[in-house]
Amino acid sequence: MTYPVIEKPSLAEVRMKPNLQDYDATYRSFQWKSVERELAWLPGGGLNLAHECVDRHALGGLRDKVAMLWEGKEGEEETYTFEQMRRESNRFANLLKGLGVQKGDRVFLFMERVPELYFAFFGILKLGAVVGPLFSAFGPDPVRDRLLNSGARVLVTQPDLRQRVASILKDLPELKHIIVVNKNNRSREPLARGDLSYEVLMANASAEFGPLTTTKDDYSIMHYTSGTTGRPKGAVHRHYAVVQHYLTGKWVLDLHREDIYWCTADPGWVTGTSYGMSAPWSNGVTQVIYEGGFRASAWYQVIQKYGVTMWYTAPTAIRMLMKAGEELPGQYDLSSLRYICSVGEPLNPEAIFWGQKVFHMPIHDNWWQTETGAILIANYPILSIRPGSMGKPVPGIRAGIVEQDGKELPPGQEGDLAIRPEWPAMFRTYWQDEERYRSRFQNGWYVTGDRARQDKDGYFWFVGRTDDVINTAGHLVGPFEVESALIEHPAVAEAGVIGKPDPIAMEVVKAFVSLKEGYEPTPQLRNEIMRFARQKLAAGVAPREIEFVRSLPKTRSGKIMRRLLKARELGLPEGDTSTLEED
Ligand code: AMP
Repeated sequence: MTYPVIEKPSLAEVRMKPNLQDYDATYRSFQWKSVERELAWLPGGGLNLAHECVDRHALGGLRDKVAMLWEGKEGEEETYTFEQMRRESNRFANLLKGLGVQKGDRVFLFMERVPELYFAFFGILKLGAVVGPLFSAFGPDPVRDRLLNSGARVLVTQPDLRQRVASILKDLPELKHIIVVNKNNRSREPLARGDLSYEVLMANASAEFGPLTTTKDDYSIMHYTSGTTGRPKGAVHRHYAVVQHYLTGKWVLDLHREDIYWCTADPGWVTGTSYGMSAPWSNGVTQVIYEGGFRASAWYQVIQKYGVTMWYTAPTAIRMLMKAGEELPGQYDLSSLRYICSVGEPLNPEAIFWGQKVFHMPIHDNWWQTETGAILIANYPILSIRPGSMGKPVPGIRAGIVEQDGKELPPGQEGDLAIRPEWPAMFRTYWQDEERYRSRFQNGWYVTGDRARQDKDGYFWFVGRTDDVINTAGHLVGPFEVESALIEHPAVAEAGVIGKPDPIAMEVVKAFVSLKEGYEPTPQLRNEIMRFARQKLAAGVAPREIEFVRSLPKTRSGKIMRRLLKARELGLPEGDTSTLEED
């Protein structure tokens, strides 16, 4: 299915001159060295992500600029300048040092989005320890699995979260310290025996720390991937990634010093660290951190109140905003917005057109993974958008569509999306699973596990996760294309599509559909949606079966878990569900 191209805006039309002005020329002449020169580095040639994001601004011209505009879930407001961030993160680094934490030790964060999470994050990196952020909605089992696998030495948490995982702590012999942050005295309970008070330790820690001794290749952050297809694995990154966070913040998110930026991802996922910390702050930009969860009206309120100019969010959030209706945004002043990007799942064309209608600008999709550490394929302010396409590779990135033997396929053909190693933000290993890490590299490519194709003009089109692609009567069907067609129907809120085994066609397309408010799941509506899909898609590609569901199983980072839909459909074991979002 093809959708009308959204032509690039003329320079006169855009509110801020884009940082990247000539994609093709830049792509051709690009050198990472020239980006490296835009960062500060450490005396002696070392590199530290925290130094690039915080200290170099605090010690330079942005000392008193606001880095963080924080709004708590109880409506509290706090702001922190780069200098305050420097001092607080120094305190945390000293605190850890005082506990005997050493370079390379793993320190995990199990916290809500409170400012202390960010201070701790940078403090850990300053010390040279490895930070492992955990999503705060996790229950005890996923937390235990991750702390065990990583051999975490310290856990920084909050009283209610500490209580939630109390039962697993005895299973973690390597965990030596639990530091509890009692944000704004929200909890009146005394600390558990042996726990350490963040507030007490910080009050006694010096606000000066140094020297920083990390190199560009030292490990910095480990993220357990959200695992739409298998067991979560700990992807380990290095300080050098900041070079690419900085660059993609500048060229893809088009961050300018005047921007007020809001990334809606939680730091428990890679987007929340690479783009909720590193990219904006290495670019010296003020960002909003909103502790509250998703509510359409609250989100519009955040944009209005803080005058958000650049907004980075995800398809699942956009679909939820769409579900909340077109009238709601009209009740807020959203005129500050100038640029919107999305990541995490394919962005349905319908969502892009909705963005145009409601926000008066298209939403720019971009593609990357936990393992890639930073955006690799993107739509840019200065390129036309082909709705449904992920865009073109970031300068410095060579992407290809390959066959199993690594042979590159010509434009138009579908195959495995692969990237030529290496790039600064590329992961360096899966924690304690070097073999699996190496298996991701074949014939000189990093093979992403996604199926895609490239058109003759160099745009990449996502087809599906390799494991999600459906083989029906010899045709390979990507679930994304079918889902995108389905959600164009006015009654459909979300759709998840799988291949259901079939004796004749091998697999047939089956869709699980949730409806918008006000629609009833009747047989008539099912038939109508089927007819609608058949008109939009080729016969054989349209779903043979539609099942109405109240909601779709998703990872906690918002991705539809097709693997689980399929397992449930076939009555197979559900496998690892530690990242499944509970209803
Ligand atoms: P994770 O490592 O958990 O962030 O998941 C990465 C995966 O999410 C990718 O390999 C894709 O399957 C999917 N993904 C992320 N961004 C996009 C996008 N813009 N379009 C299509 N799929 C995406």
